Formats: sequence, C-alpha cells, structure tokens
Amino acid sequence: MSKNVKDLRSLKQKKSFFFDLDGTIYLGNKLFPGILELIDTLKNKNKNFYFLSNNSSKSTSDYLKKLKSLNLDVSLENIILSQHPTMDYLKNQGYRKIFLMGNQSLKEEFENEGFQLTEETPEIIVLAFDQELTYDRLSKATRFLFMNFPYIATHLDDRCPTEEGYIPDAGGIACLLYKTTERMPRVFGKPNKEMILFKLHQTGISPEDAVMFGDRLYTDIKMGINAGITSCLVLSGESTLKMVEESENKPDLIIDGVWDLLDVL
Ligand SMILES: [Mg+2]
Repeated sequence: MSKNVKDLRSLKQKKSFFFDLDGTIYLGNKLFPGILELIDTLKNKNKNFYFLSNNSSKSTSDYLKKLKSLNLDVSLENIILSQHPTMDYLKNQGYRKIFLMGNQSLKEEFENEGFQLTEETPEIIVLAFDQELTYDRLSKATRFLFMNFPYIATHLDDRCPTEEGYIPDAGGIACLLYKTTERMPRVFGKPNKEMILFKLHQTGISPEDAVMFGDRLYTDIKMGINAGITSCLVLSGESTLKMVEESENKPDLIIDGVWDLLDVL
C-alpha cells in the first residue's frame, strides 16, 4: 500500500523481524509470492528474523521439518513457538519438575532442555496443545490444581484450524479444567508480550529495533503493541481495513503482504 511507503522505509533500519505464519507467510500449504526472495534478502542484510506460532503440539525440530517441506530455507533459531517463552520462564523461575500436558514430540523437547517430566511429584502444571490427552491425565492435573500448584499454559487458542475444520486447542482444554477447578493458567504465547520479549532479551535487541508482521489484529498486532515494537498488519490473511477501523488494536503500518518489503529492505 503506497500510503505507507515513507514509513515502510523506516523498516530498513530494524534489526529483528518477527513474522506470523498462517495468513502472513503462507495460506494452508501455499507460500505467498516473494517469500523465498524475502528470506534471502533478510539473510543477506544480516537481519534477525523469526517465524512465530502458538502451536505447541510439536517440538521445534518437528516444526522445522514442516517449514522445510514448504521449501523455506530456515533453521531452528528462526522459529519461535509458544513453548519457548514458557520454557524461558520455567528456567528463570527455577522450575525443574514439570507436569506437562502435551504431545510426545513436545515432551522430548522439554526433556532435551533439562526438565524432568512427572505426573506424580511436579512443581508446576504446564498446559500445551495436548492431542494425546487422556481422562487420567486430566484427573491428575485437576488434583494438583485443587492443591493450588502453579499453573501456566503455552498458549490459549480456543481452536486450531485443520483441513477438516476446527479441532479443540489448548484454550478448549483450559476451559474444561476451569469448569472443574475454576482456575485459569498464566499464558506465554501470542498475544502476550513474552513471546517477543524473551527473544529480544536473549539477543540484546531493544524493542524499537524490532517489528512484528501478522494478519490478526487481536493476536499479532496486539502482541506487537504489548511488546512495544513496531506492528505491521498484512491484508493477506483474515483482517480487512474495515476491521482495523473497528479494532482497538491499531497497527503502525498496513501492507498488502510481506512481499511489499522487498521494495524497501
Ligand atoms: Mg495468522
């Protein structure tokens, strides 16, 4: 969109670029035009860039395989999943013994990061996108919640889109536990600023040198605002200009799609 061109040029100075995935980089399994070139440009200009997803059903290395299957030439350090700020918090707070409600793939990542997984003697309950959930695990978690154990979640999306339609996500599981225990977890994924700030902290980049691109006002743009970084809405996904007018989450910039960056970087 030409009305932003002058402001868009300011992006050239940014050091860290955060991108949502679905609706921003691809739609379903189809990459938007210019994405491969954009990644090359970011690499050539020595920019930090990250692809963000709240989806904590997979480990980062399994997620990397998914991105590679779409021909994206990226590595582990280019991926931020909601389990990352969550693990960062757990480490900073000194938690080691975790009751993790999550898939085997995610459990392996937690163990590789030095956490001990237990459903008997945990220090904290961590809810993720658990597609291997059993009634037994729910019951055990409920008992600890009634005993007032600390309780956090990687993210709280209500539902997850699939080719066959929506399926329950971590937010749905959290509601089930809430109905029984009246407890809701502290959350780290989008739209919480921790999803961005833990990475800026790790890399020593200040918020004014970072920008977030995404297609959802109430997650991507809200998170950019919460984290105090520049926010840029892409119109290639679910938001329209009318939705921007009606939303309280106003982006700093609006572009048709991330391919518009190729002209300004
Ligand atoms: Mg999106």
